[in-house]
Amino acid sequence: MTGPGGSRIAAPSTRFIYESLPMRVIFGRGRTADLRSELDHLGLDRVLVLSTPEQQTTARKVADGFGGRCAGVFPGAVMHVPVDVADQAGRLASELGADGCVAVGGGSTIGLGKAIALRRGLPIIAVPTTYAGSEMTPIWGVTERGVKHTGRDRIVLPRSVIYDPELTTSLPIGLSVTSGLNAVAHAAEALYAPDTSPILDLMAEEGARSIVTALPHIVESPTDHDGRADALRGAWLCGAVLGATTMSLHHKLCHILGGTFGLPHAETHTVVLPHVLAFNLPAAPHAAAALERALGDADIAGALWDYARDLGAPTSLRELGMPPDGIDEVVRQAITVPYANPREISAAAISQLLLAAQQGLRPT
Ligand code: NAD
Repeated sequence: MTGPGGSRIAAPSTRFIYESLPMRVIFGRGRTADLRSELDHLGLDRVLVLSTPEQQTTARKVADGFGGRCAGVFPGAVMHVPVDVADQAGRLASELGADGCVAVGGGSTIGLGKAIALRRGLPIIAVPTTYAGSEMTPIWGVTERGVKHTGRDRIVLPRSVIYDPELTTSLPIGLSVTSGLNAVAHAAEALYAPDTSPILDLMAEEGARSIVTALPHIVESPTDHDGRADALRGAWLCGAVLGATTMSLHHKLCHILGGTFGLPHAETHTVVLPHVLAFNLPAAPHAAAALERALGDADIAGALWDYARDLGAPTSLRELGMPPDGIDEVVRQAITVPYANPREISAAAISQLLLAAQQGLRPT
């Protein structure tokens, strides 16, 4: 098989297992108003609404839409789900006799819903307001004494997801861009995942394409619902492939960087992705061909770096707060436990890659 640039491309996987996760998606402008019928659909009568402190007003407005069936609002979600916050919200759900949760927000709020689901089995309706994609995955994470523990359990997979572009027009431009590139990272690593399949390949490529097409429109016109809808459609697809495959070096490094130095999630993904792709794609020609089609450029890593910079995203780990002497610790953690990656990992290669990301160099 020959790729767009005439290069040889490894055939897509001809032996695979494809298992779809249950998903129910309500998509479209103003569809948050359908929450009441979603509660009917799931047989829920008293739900606890979750949000971050910053999105409390939005959450209360959403809760007003289903009146007496809101048992309460917990506006205490924070990044990486600290265990005490999960315990506090879980206790409140019990005290209020809640029979489910509605998570209105990004990955942090949906993550809190998942922690409650894991502890108490309460079903979640997710109303995502970023492009992180957590609503499509059975992956949970809880942070205890500075260490984020993660796992997969289908009980945390939201039963219904409402994608409403109206709720995303308030997402600041900077976070819109980095959150979108966080989604592209899911698609990129799904394309070379050991457990990908032709169906997931299609979803990943289209997800990446939707996001990279939408973000410049969003930067230009943040309240345009069409651009926001395209980005949400991309987030859906990228989240779905994240939930269905095994992630590799990129997600590993971002997890370590976030956990060790408290670097912000979406921004860290944005800075690291071009560097990991420069390293990995020579060993993953099928993924490279899909990303080349999605981005419209054969120099995928360089083009992605330029794209992020032109949209005003950060390009260096240094500006995100990575300490100058932090690289050795990340390398140590990144090579301690083996994991899937299309290219063999060495301490020297990761160190070089991180140094370039730390300094904000354009990958070659
Ligand atoms: P976030 O949920 O932490 O949100 C970032 C900030 O943006 C918050 O202050 C939030 O209130 C605000 N915000 C969100 N949507 C907004 C909107 N529409 N308008 C105005 N403000 C808005 O950020 P995130 O990047 O979505 O989530 C990051 C977290 O999610 C991390 O902890 C990450 O590990 C986790 N995550 C988990 C999965 C999974 O599958 N489990 C997937 C992706 C991310």
